[in-house]
Amino acid sequence: MASTKQIVTRGIAVGGGAPISIQSMCSIPFSRFEELQSQALALQEAGCDILRVSFPDMESAEPFRRLRDSLSIPLVADIHYDWRLAMEAMKSGADKIRINPGNTDKTHLKIVTDEAKARKIPIRVGVNAGSLEKDLLAEYGKPTAEALAKSAQRNVELLEQLDFDDIAVSMKASDVRMMVEAYRIFAKDSPYPLHLGVTEAGTVRSGTVKSSVGIGALLLDGIGDTIRVSLTADPLEEIETAKILLRSLGLYDRGIEVISCPTCGRTTVNSIELANTVEREFEDIRAHVKIAVMGCVVNGPGEAKQADVGVTGANGEYVLFRGEKIIRHISPDNILPLLRAEVEDIAKGKMN
Ligand code: SF4
Repeated sequence: MASTKQIVTRGIAVGGGAPISIQSMCSIPFSRFEELQSQALALQEAGCDILRVSFPDMESAEPFRRLRDSLSIPLVADIHYDWRLAMEAMKSGADKIRINPGNTDKTHLKIVTDEAKARKIPIRVGVNAGSLEKDLLAEYGKPTAEALAKSAQRNVELLEQLDFDDIAVSMKASDVRMMVEAYRIFAKDSPYPLHLGVTEAGTVRSGTVKSSVGIGALLLDGIGDTIRVSLTADPLEEIETAKILLRSLGLYDRGIEVISCPTCGRTTVNSIELANTVEREFEDIRAHVKIAVMGCVVNGPGEAKQADVGVTGANGEYVLFRGEKIIRHISPDNILPLLRAEVEDIAKGKMN
């Protein structure tokens, strides 16, 4: 896939070979500002690269600015229908706006693009299967991949006609096949960076699977520049899932990666509990450290060899490996702090 055009928002590059960035969206309204701000800061701390909030009315302007000023990551204003809100959001410090240009007339769209150009604010064309234009629904009979791609193309052209090309594009659907196909069609002829996502993907478990299939399939094809895993859950879950998704494709080089076996009758330790505890409690480690947690010596040492550090159950205790080297035997009661010390040591070496 040819590299896409690069856009930059508050110092974060998207497209043109930049690292795939992770996006999320706040789920708390401006009317509960303190809570909203805590959520936004927690998302930033967790690794969200670009954050979006709804900008539903003119009263959003003041809290939007306050929120944006308290963050160091870009804050995107989500606007659906009203060009005046787009203008207000940009004046309130929005680093990017998400609109559908087809929802406004050309005169007002020009006012919006002139303002965006003057302020160097990119626009995301956000097409959604649930809100396709009526004529496309009539033409295709129902939402389809072709209709989504055509809608995106049409909206992009509206911006291009106004000499605006600081654009990112998304074509989201809850149907994974439709979403994947729409991006594939669109990516063939478009230079613009693509924001990937399966919309209304569902709760943590089903949404994680659907997003991983859809976003993962496209990333494996070399399509996609920034992602949002959309979950019916605390948005922090979206960040953690996105990090694992990208890490599993070799596209994210921060944080721990746990390699663990499903266990079987050969297991003599509770390695399921250990793997889950490690994943949860070592989240704060910033460097990319691969940790193998294996149930027995059948595959344990082999996997440990691929990892930076590994533990394998053996006769009711754990054996700690670094590469091919056995470091020591450890009782299950002591494994967590000793494994943590090894991981911290490896992380320190990697950060230096
Ligand atoms: S590593 Fe050992 S315990 Fe784990 S699944 Fe394989 S054989 Fe079973």
